[in-house]
Amino acid sequence: MTATNALIACPECDTLLALKDVEIRHQALCPCCGVVLYQPRNKSIMHTLSLSMTGLILILPANFLPLLSIKLLGNSQEGTLWSGVTGLFQEGLWSVAVLVLLSSIVFPTIIIVLSFLLSVHLYRHRAHRHLALWMRCLQHLEEWAMLEVYMLGIIVACVKLADTTELKFGLGLYAFVSLLVINVLLTQNVDNHLFWQHITKLQANDLKS
Ligand SMILES: [Zn+2]
Repeated sequence: MTATNALIACPECDTLLALKDVEIRHQALCPCCGVVLYQPRNKSIMHTLSLSMTGLILILPANFLPLLSIKLLGNSQEGTLWSGVTGLFQEGLWSVAVLVLLSSIVFPTIIIVLSFLLSVHLYRHRAHRHLALWMRCLQHLEEWAMLEVYMLGIIVACVKLADTTELKFGLGLYAFVSLLVINVLLTQNVDNHLFWQHITKLQANDLKS
């Protein structure tokens, strides 16, 4: 999909329309029923850049600082996101370990890195031969980052362990929750049509020069 050939179905009357470039502060309206089909989010690129930069800062603490420390019968043990994955590998649960590794560490990290690379190039109006590839990858990977599922697992574990052990939340947990929020905001904030519109323009200018 590119900005010039994107098709959009009207949510009111189901008319299928080719969505052309829409300028900032303008709207695309359905010619049949007049409903607003698309309105560019004018600060999408800047917000994506700032969110992805925050995400880049949070990746390491979220993965390698302790999420929880558990104290049981005088013994204290800390767990990080990374140690959770390696623990699954050591237990021989390879398929689960690979799934957790991809959905909670690899894909969220790639999404943040791609969002940063795209937004920094679009913000500075710099063309790059991989812009379209990065955008396509970002659109496909959004469905595969499942930090919220991991978060749900942590909450369930906390509830189950709360009565029998002494639980202490670590710095990694705060970084992880912040990273989760950043990922959700990034997914909601990236205006795919606007991004494609800018990528197409940059590539066209690059070919001319
Ligand atoms: Zn319509």
